[in-house]
Amino acid sequence: MVMLKKGDCEHCGRVYRYSLWHCGFGDTSYAYCDDCGMLATINYSSEGVADFPDPSARYQEIDIQWEPLLRHCECGGRFRKGAAPRCPHCNEPLSATHAAAHMEKQAVGAPKGWRWQGNWNGVYCLAIEDPRDPGTLRQMIDPVKSTVPVLLISGDLDPVTPPWLAEQTARTLPNGRLVIIKNATHSSYDCVEAMVADFIDKGTTQGLDISCADQIKRPPFVVLDSP
Ligand SMILES: [Zn+2]
Ligand SMILES: [Zn+2]
Repeated sequence: MVMLKKGDCEHCGRVYRYSLWHCGFGDTSYAYCDDCGMLATINYSSEGVADFPDPSARYQEIDIQWEPLLRHCECGGRFRKGAAPRCPHCNEPLSATHAAAHMEKQAVGAPKGWRWQGNWNGVYCLAIEDPRDPGTLRQMIDPVKSTVPVLLISGDLDPVTPPWLAEQTARTLPNGRLVIIKNATHSSYDCVEAMVADFIDKGTTQGLDISCADQIKRPPFVVLDSP
C-alpha cells in the first residue's frame, strides 16, 4: 500500500493525491504524457530498453531520443520530454513551483533540509491518483515498443478490459494481432483456448484460424424475480 500525499491544483483549486518516486531507488527514467499527464517510468533493466541509446544522464526525465521508442499513453497521447503532470480534475498542467509548498509541508525530510527540486525533470517524479478509481495511480510501467509476436483477444461485450483498450495497445505492437470475439464477455471460451494454443504452437500471429470468433451466441439476459 502506497502512502499518498495531497496536492492542490493552482488552476481549479481542487485537491488531488499523488505518490512521489525517487528514480534512483526505482532505477528508472521517466516521462509524462503530453495530453493527460500520466507518468511513464522506464526501468533500465527491463526487456526492450537494452537497445535504447544510453541516457545522457540517469535517474531523471528521458532524452528526446527515447520518445519514439515508447508506446502511446492509454489516452492516445505521447510521453514527451518537457511534459508535465496534470491535474486529474481539470487536466491543466501543474506548476512545479506551486507544488513546492505542499511537497515540503508533507516531506518527512523537510525539517532536515530536504527541498523539492522545483521542476518536472529531476530525480523525483509524480504519479497522481485517478480520482475515478481511488488507490490507482496514473502511471504506466515500461511502456516500451516491442516486435515480439503478441496475440490480443478481446470480448465484444467485455466491460472489464474492453476492446478499445486492446486497440490502443495493438497500435504499438507491429507483430501483434487483435482478435475481437463477437458476443463474448470477460469469460473464457473453447474458441479462445484453441486460438491461444494454436498461437503458442505456431509462435506467430500469422495464419491463425480465427473463424470461431464470429460464432459465439450472445448470452441470454437473466432477470431475477423481485422479492
Ligand atoms: Zn485542476
Ligand atoms: Zn495520456
